[in-house]
Amino acid sequence: ALQLPRPDERRIMTVANQKGGVGKTTSTVNLAAGLALHGLNVLVIDLDPQGNASTALGVDHRSGVPSVYEVLLGEIGVADAAQQSTQSENLWCVPATIDLAGSEIELVTMVAREGRLKEALNAEGVERLAPDYVFIDCPPSLGLLTVNALVAAREVLIPIQCEYYALEGLGQLLRNIELVQAHLNPALWVSTILLTMYDGRTKLADQVAAEVRGHFGELALRTVIPRSVKISEAPGFGQTVLTYDPGSRGSMSYLDAAREIAERGGRKGA
Ligand code: ADP
Ligand code: MG
Repeated sequence: ALQLPRPDERRIMTVANQKGGVGKTTSTVNLAAGLALHGLNVLVIDLDPQGNASTALGVDHRSGVPSVYEVLLGEIGVADAAQQSTQSENLWCVPATIDLAGSEIELVTMVAREGRLKEALNAEGVERLAPDYVFIDCPPSLGLLTVNALVAAREVLIPIQCEYYALEGLGQLLRNIELVQAHLNPALWVSTILLTMYDGRTKLADQVAAEVRGHFGELALRTVIPRSVKISEAPGFGQTVLTYDPGSRGSMSYLDAAREIAERGGRKGA
């Protein structure tokens, strides 16, 4: 496979949008797999109690498996919970189990509750995995789990579905990001907007795409992810679309998006 540039420093990207079903998880696993396919080391942190990213990466996430829950509690390290994905040997995933479901409430009473994931990612054991990229897949809410993700990351990737009301609620997400920037993580920035589930046959998709580009300019990747049955089928086989149907448009588009992300780098204003 063609090599992609290895970043000078580890890129930690939080995939966030408090709306459900916009393609957070799908984008997380397929971008991660795309970068891994090009020889980069990638770590996915599944921060959604549904564990959909874990499923798509072929990683065990039954209740009781060492997971991101124990990592947040500080009981184990990231590398202790990380499992190698069936999808690539340099792709690892810290799974989420259903045990994470109660953690939004449990975290509230904890010390340094917003910085638990950051602390875990800064701990020494992570070096064993030497990740070039860390992707954090957020739940569809702006609670403490998402705040932990925003505090741990340098970059935010926002997937936007090319549908009605695509931009609705985005203001709330952006305000939350500004709050985290102001109080907890000054280095955080929205580096990447990814248009997902684009249906070229509809005018609406083009309108949404134009509106998003008008609003976010260069932050929006040139690559747009098409609506594709293959993309939605892949997780049912515990696979990314890159493995499930490598030649499909969905697979090619995620590879293109991964390449764009790698080539433009993670620096603000670069
Ligand atoms: P989120 O993580 O934001 O809730 P998902 O990534 O789980 O969203 O996507 C929601 C649903 O849409 C899933 O069933 C997924 O398989 C499907 N999906 C995501 N992207 C596409 C796409 N490009 N084409 C078709 N289906 C998609
Ligand atoms: Mg999801």
